[in-house]
Amino acid sequence: MSTICAVSTPLASGALSVIRMSGEQSLEIAANIFVPFGKKSIPEMPGHTCAYGRICDGGRVLDDVLVTVFRAPASYTGEDTVEISCHGGIYITNQILRLCIAKGAQPAQAGEFTKRAMLNGKLDLTQAEAVMEMITAQGEQALSSAVQMRGGALAKKIHAVQDGLTQMLSGLAAWVDFPEEDLPEAEPERLAEQISILNKQLREILADYDGGRYYREGVATAIVGRPNVGKSTLMNLLLGYERSIVTDIAGTTRDVIEESAKIGGVVLRLADTAGLRDTTDTVEKIGVSKARAQLAESELVLAVFDTAESLTEEDFALLSEIQGKKSIGILNKSDLPRMLSLADENQICNTCTEVVEISAKNELGKKELDHAVVRVLDLQRYDGAAVFVNERQKACLEKALGYFQDAKAALDFGQTLDAVTVTLEGALQSLLELTGDVVSDKVVAGVFAKFCVGK
Ligand code: GDP
Repeated sequence: MSTICAVSTPLASGALSVIRMSGEQSLEIAANIFVPFGKKSIPEMPGHTCAYGRICDGGRVLDDVLVTVFRAPASYTGEDTVEISCHGGIYITNQILRLCIAKGAQPAQAGEFTKRAMLNGKLDLTQAEAVMEMITAQGEQALSSAVQMRGGALAKKIHAVQDGLTQMLSGLAAWVDFPEEDLPEAEPERLAEQISILNKQLREILADYDGGRYYREGVATAIVGRPNVGKSTLMNLLLGYERSIVTDIAGTTRDVIEESAKIGGVVLRLADTAGLRDTTDTVEKIGVSKARAQLAESELVLAVFDTAESLTEEDFALLSEIQGKKSIGILNKSDLPRMLSLADENQICNTCTEVVEISAKNELGKKELDHAVVRVLDLQRYDGAAVFVNERQKACLEKALGYFQDAKAALDFGQTLDAVTVTLEGALQSLLELTGDVVSDKVVAGVFAKFCVGK
């Protein structure tokens, strides 16, 4: 395999930059351009040691650097690897990179170091994906999940199901191939029970998918309510500064305003929408239809009501529109005399997942809202042990679960054990794809395309 090189740090001015080289020729190329200040030259350096010296292009000195040598297989990629830490100037860094290329190294593709680590058996596909998750993690939960996945936590759980499937399949094969032997009978009930255990294990892994989305991407949240109930004021309270135009004239918030605020430990991507009322105003009409679309796409709805007034037709229409969605009913203007009837309040409580009372204007009730967000999104379940599966892994898990369903149907309808075997093989295949044990080049390319160059 060729020797690859790349700048592994951001290409920007800073204290240090790291140029990484991996492959059979990396030590030789480094020896060619590095002049040590000490006695040991690169060929004499043991793995996991570094040396101080100069990068020289013939007689021209480029920089004083620190070179770290890793010898195969004890390196990130599993190959001979050299890391050159130089001064963090863009020009210096590029010059050293060019020199490595001039001496025979190839520029690395995005994620190629990690891909080589995988091909050399250092990581499975889930662990390789976790490397990128660690780099992009923006909070404690996302990082903790990524660290665990990098350590093989997801792979371990999947391997347990793969092992269960392999055992079932070998039992089935033995029974089909040697029916005359004295083998324990492959009873449909017993098979169904084993499938149901494996099914449960996969469902538990899949259950953490939502958490991953919440903590990685934030939660698409729509703030809805008829005009003047205090949506913009609430938005400002959540963001901590004046963002929407707050006025007393109904219908001021005409467009969808998107902002992000961390509430209950997750980032809510807030869309403060126009009211959902019927209107003849052309501009407002556009706002209302955007608001409807926003509502449809949102994962969480903050439905705002004015407790200083009775519920109106518009409020009732909104309540029926958010039925079945994860929602928090916000009883705003709690500082004013209450006009909302008990029946109205019950209506809100029956529709919304949670209800909190606030006074957005007086900044009261934010803590209660935080708690409500935690409860509605069921965030308590994602403790430090949660491992968030990504979109690709979820698709593999769902495929495997589909095969389990087929296997169960085959057993229920008394089909031959061959039919059951085929479905279980399908499930195993999907899980082998998840861990990358049996996976197409296209899938691997898709995973590493998301990486940065130098990783
Ligand atoms: P929106 O049309 O739903 O976005 O409503 P706004 O946020 O623009 O608020 C409409 C009016 O209600 C403004 O005059 C706000 O100052 C007022 N308002 C909002 N929240 C409260 C509150 O908690 N208490 C009181 N008394 N007035 C509020």
